[in-house]
Amino acid sequence: MSNRAPTPVQPVHAPSAAPADSLWRDVAPADWNDWRWQLRNRLRTADELSQHFTITPELRTFLDAGRGFEVAVTPYFAALCRPFDPTCPLTRQILPDVAEATVRDFERADPLGEDPHRKAPGIVHKYPDRVLLLVTDTCAAYCRYCTRARWVASGADTLGTAELDAGIAYIARTPAIRDVLISGGDPLLLSSAKLAAILDRLAAIPHLRFIRLGTRVPVFLPQRIDAALVHALRPRRIPLFINVHCNHFVELAPEVRASLGRLADGGISLGGQTVLLRGVNDDAATLQETFYALLSARVRPYYLFHCDPIRGSAHLRTSVDAGLALMRQLLGHTSGMAVPKYVIDLEGGGKIPLWPDFVEHIDRSVLHVTNFRGETWRYVNHAD
Ligand SMILES: *Cc1c(COP(=O)(O)O)cnc(C)c1O
Repeated sequence: MSNRAPTPVQPVHAPSAAPADSLWRDVAPADWNDWRWQLRNRLRTADELSQHFTITPELRTFLDAGRGFEVAVTPYFAALCRPFDPTCPLTRQILPDVAEATVRDFERADPLGEDPHRKAPGIVHKYPDRVLLLVTDTCAAYCRYCTRARWVASGADTLGTAELDAGIAYIARTPAIRDVLISGGDPLLLSSAKLAAILDRLAAIPHLRFIRLGTRVPVFLPQRIDAALVHALRPRRIPLFINVHCNHFVELAPEVRASLGRLADGGISLGGQTVLLRGVNDDAATLQETFYALLSARVRPYYLFHCDPIRGSAHLRTSVDAGLALMRQLLGHTSGMAVPKYVIDLEGGGKIPLWPDFVEHIDRSVLHVTNFRGETWRYVNHAD
């Protein structure tokens, strides 16, 4: 594996409003900055997408057949994608590819093996002390490598009142649970009032130590992070941590950084989760700049997920050894604050952190190790 330091890249600053040369140049700023306008005007069909993206005849046939996973892109995020460039790292994440129709024999509809752990409505309880609470099946835009594609945008929609009651009752009667991860779909698409009510009810459960929420709304729909939402997310008896899904530094446009600032100023601790994707961020320089850009936006990188073997995602996946080689390029050459844990998620077996091996071999009294520069060092292996 290479010990070569990544070559730094220059951060790119994306346009801060509907670009003057874009499809949306005539949209009034009041509409452009209104998250409901953004949701209503998402690009979904081949015709709509073809105004900003390259739609080959094969892709049009695939989209028109409508048998694939849900398609939607907010105009805001589409405008960040380089127009008519299928190699754009942002486009690759949200524009369907005919390769989605090719399913490898090891790919799964439920690659994390979550369904057997559905212990109550909306609840996935796989680890002893923490649960997922899946509150909605809707997202602002749909990532092509969605790990819950079997369920997201399926019409299951928002957890109903009775189901939510049953999910929260399960958490309340299970004292082993110390933290609840609110996810979906994207929980920040719930109304601010509904979200505040869920947080109030969770914060009242005495055995919970903190609450987490996973979202990609700050990236796909930063306009949604308005004062009402920040107020709904305000600190309660226990802290709230928000993990923001961000895969590339270009996603951290001025609107996005401002929305993250509003959350941080609102007293919320921010973490980052990034998915390792082929042709998007599978080089050390892009990963390094992405993690520094997240930290500059007050987001501490938490996880780098290996892309799960979701059905039809092979064109977006790298190998695990390529992932480990990237981690080796980052470690030591990059602030430790900017290096997340690299994890694979076993089908049903949970997450496993992977770390490049710096230990060459271990004698009774000496450890032989390699440092980040590739030099061999010896370290005393004595306890007394
Ligand atoms: C990832 C995950 C969690 C949270 O795991 P941490 O390692 O604590 O971040 C909880 N439940 C499920 C089912 C998960 O997949």
